[in-house]
Amino acid sequence: MGKAKKYVYFFGDGKADGRAEQKDLLGGKGANLAEMTNLGIPVPPGFTITTEVCTEYYRNNRNYPPELKKGVERALVRVERLMRAGFGDAVNPLLVSVRSGARRSMPGMMETVLNIGLTSRTIPGLVEKTGNERFVYDAYRRLIMMYADVVMEKAAGIEPPEGEGIRKLLEEEMDKHKASRGVRNDTELTAGDLKELVEAFKERVKSVLGRSFPDDHLQQLWGGIGAVFQSWQGKRAVAYRKIENIPDVWGTAVNVQAMVFGNAGESSATGVAFTRNPATGEPHFYGEWLPNAQGEDVVAGIRTPLPLNKAMRSRGQKKFKSLEEAMPALYKQLAGIRSQLERHYKDMQDIEFTIENGTLYMLQTRTGKRTGTAAIRMAVEMCVERLIDRKTALIRVKPEHLDELLHPMIDPAGEKKTPVLARGLPAGPGAGCGLIVLSADLAEKWRQEGKKVVLVRNETSPEDVHGMHAAEAILTAKGGMTSHAALVARGWGKCCIVGCGALAIDERARTIEVNGRVLREGDWITLNGTRGLAYEGCLALLPADPEKNPFYRKLMGWADRERRLGIRTNADRPEDARTARRFGAEGIGLCRTEHMFFDPQRIRAMREMIVAEDEQQRRKAVMKLLVYQKKDFEGIMEAMEGLPVTIRLLDPPLHEFVNLQPRQIAELAGELGVGQDKLRARIEQLHELNPMLGHRGCRLGITYPEISEMQARAIFQAAASLAKRNKKVFPEVMIPLVGTDREFLNQKEIVQRVAREVMREAGVRFPYLIGTMIEIPRACIVADEIARDAEFFSFGTNDLTQTAFGFSRDDIGSFLPAYLEKQILPHDPFQSLDAPGVGRLVEMGVQKGRRTRPKLKIGICGEHGGDPKSIRFFHRAGLNYVSCSPYRVPVARLCAAQAAIEHDSGG
Ligand code: PEP
Ligand code: MG
Repeated sequence: MGKAKKYVYFFGDGKADGRAEQKDLLGGKGANLAEMTNLGIPVPPGFTITTEVCTEYYRNNRNYPPELKKGVERALVRVERLMRAGFGDAVNPLLVSVRSGARRSMPGMMETVLNIGLTSRTIPGLVEKTGNERFVYDAYRRLIMMYADVVMEKAAGIEPPEGEGIRKLLEEEMDKHKASRGVRNDTELTAGDLKELVEAFKERVKSVLGRSFPDDHLQQLWGGIGAVFQSWQGKRAVAYRKIENIPDVWGTAVNVQAMVFGNAGESSATGVAFTRNPATGEPHFYGEWLPNAQGEDVVAGIRTPLPLNKAMRSRGQKKFKSLEEAMPALYKQLAGIRSQLERHYKDMQDIEFTIENGTLYMLQTRTGKRTGTAAIRMAVEMCVERLIDRKTALIRVKPEHLDELLHPMIDPAGEKKTPVLARGLPAGPGAGCGLIVLSADLAEKWRQEGKKVVLVRNETSPEDVHGMHAAEAILTAKGGMTSHAALVARGWGKCCIVGCGALAIDERARTIEVNGRVLREGDWITLNGTRGLAYEGCLALLPADPEKNPFYRKLMGWADRERRLGIRTNADRPEDARTARRFGAEGIGLCRTEHMFFDPQRIRAMREMIVAEDEQQRRKAVMKLLVYQKKDFEGIMEAMEGLPVTIRLLDPPLHEFVNLQPRQIAELAGELGVGQDKLRARIEQLHELNPMLGHRGCRLGITYPEISEMQARAIFQAAASLAKRNKKVFPEVMIPLVGTDREFLNQKEIVQRVAREVMREAGVRFPYLIGTMIEIPRACIVADEIARDAEFFSFGTNDLTQTAFGFSRDDIGSFLPAYLEKQILPHDPFQSLDAPGVGRLVEMGVQKGRRTRPKLKIGICGEHGGDPKSIRFFHRAGLNYVSCSPYRVPVARLCAAQAAIEHDSGG
């Protein structure tokens, strides 16, 4: 028989059964408590019930494995011994906390129940032991509130209407008590007041939930443990897992730990801190604390926390005393632990601590969530500090982090002129603008209706995550920089302001009021999350300018050295080309010439060309376009200064150009000097049942060679005119929608002939290539034949996905949601490449193409060129470059570096 499975891992007194690497088994919290214990950091003793118990619990119809009870009992005895107290003991009682701890921290999970073990049997003993009746009853009222909320209501699956949850009702009860005593703060309630309050609490719990609060320490403990496991399948946790792609089978662990009290008196305190600033990345110790309080007070935003140190205080919270000043020796010890943890974990840590009667305890450490700006700065500085190497720094910055840096800000000109509506703490940088919405459900609903919303709440809780996700930005009246709203928003890189004290929210009237100014739900509001300022109305936002950030520049330099994929851009106008170059594009991978014709003057010539009935008419119309095209191409090639510029011959969705109203038909007929009926008949003739599979791509150039001829002439004349001015040029002419070598050759001959003519006429020479798009499955299959004549390939994965699946790319909206919902497809294949299908076609195209032409230059210019997952695929497939829209260029550079690093390390 094999060894019995270990379900309970003990930690305490410098020794732990578990380690940091065992996150899958012990959850993030449990693994790190074990690791801190092993490092000799003071951690209250306790034990972790493994994630396997959670999995088995659900597998066995919500029953625990039979060995669990014994394991818990044994571990509890060890905790009792270390704490020199007994769980349920009438004279010297031990209290414990129960916390959930999945592999990744997850809003929507039951978080914590503190003070478990307080019963009518143990309370007198604890009063005797501490000599502090007020403290004991304060702990007791917290236990009842937390337990009723998370164990008896949420985990039991009770869903009260918004604002009528048991926690809210008990809070109202407490407010009533405070009012009747004429006090404002919880701390002003006396022992007698609290004694009365707990009785009122118990009655309320019984009447609302129909069950009594348990007066037995073991019932409380197992109730807490059960609630953690129940919460794994709670509505919010399940919703969060869906958003974040966390598998259901991971399960959660449960941590049971001896209580230490930050609210045991004036020499006690509690706090939350980050080893570096999670908003900016600055390398200073950053956090908040509260004297004489329990941890939930800091996180829940009930009391406004104080700055951790003098440095933070000088940055705004001037009137408050910092921990550094109030308890200098303990601050020094904490700062030492901060360095120890960073050196050990080699990353920024988010920590929780409690000071009980002058003794410091660490309750948690985990890798801290951070903004994009902070992620980049920390990665670069930790590399400079030699905490991590360059490759680790590059891997650590996520594409979303970079994206955030490219986020909009409020236009300063507009911001200067607008009076500030309210001020709060800058919890998540960037800007956001939307309609005020006061509940998470409504935020989600309006978002689905296509509205932009800003979620405004007193404070947020895990129940609000779906609404926070739907919102452009979040504003809360209460809470500090470590409140729920701040943490979640920062993790998502979302603009967020918390602790906006002047804000009064009236949920019934659906209004908010700031200093007498009343706004309604549905009114516009704009937030500056970088400065913590809110404005009435919708202010203009500006795109971000990452080039001003030195850490970004450094990181991108490292990425460029590491990556092997080239990064180009899809651009149709000189200004887009310039933007992309600023972002680091190394060429243009796709210039869609048809996009150049939407201008009113040009569209007329384009229409004239499309409806022309014979070659002569068409040539006339085409020659009008030549002038425009030549100018455009000159501008783009000049902006790219000799870098390759791939220009695709016309691939117009013809129907879009001649989808005309009667008035427009009349106008065009007048301009062309033809009768309206005749024009209408011609347009009808051009009508196609499936224009996407119709007369487009090279088919157009084959039937109307004068179009390809004109475009080739425009490209080469532009190149010649630049070459004459001694400017470097490198045009690459690309033939679209090719499926056979004969199609390609037909067009290549035209382009080649024109190139020779133009060079002869202009008397200059310049390099150029003629290649093809590979965007039809047949082209992948016969890529070896096409490569005989094509000098480069560029995969058009938009059309390739369309034709490989047989999904019309314009009509996917009618069935894709159902496909995703029913998990028929794992993701939208037009967003992220379908590796097993379309990807195989790409690989085939690469292999066959290079079999004929070993040095064949191959790129990709479909939308997938800017998608992180697809970029990894293209790297492995051996492509030379990816091409994406200008604003995705930085992300593509980083992802290409990450792909190379992961590939080299065998990942
Ligand atoms: C493609 O099909 O992937 C492509 C880049 O071309 P377009 O999107 O213009 O059809
Ligand atoms: Mg295409």
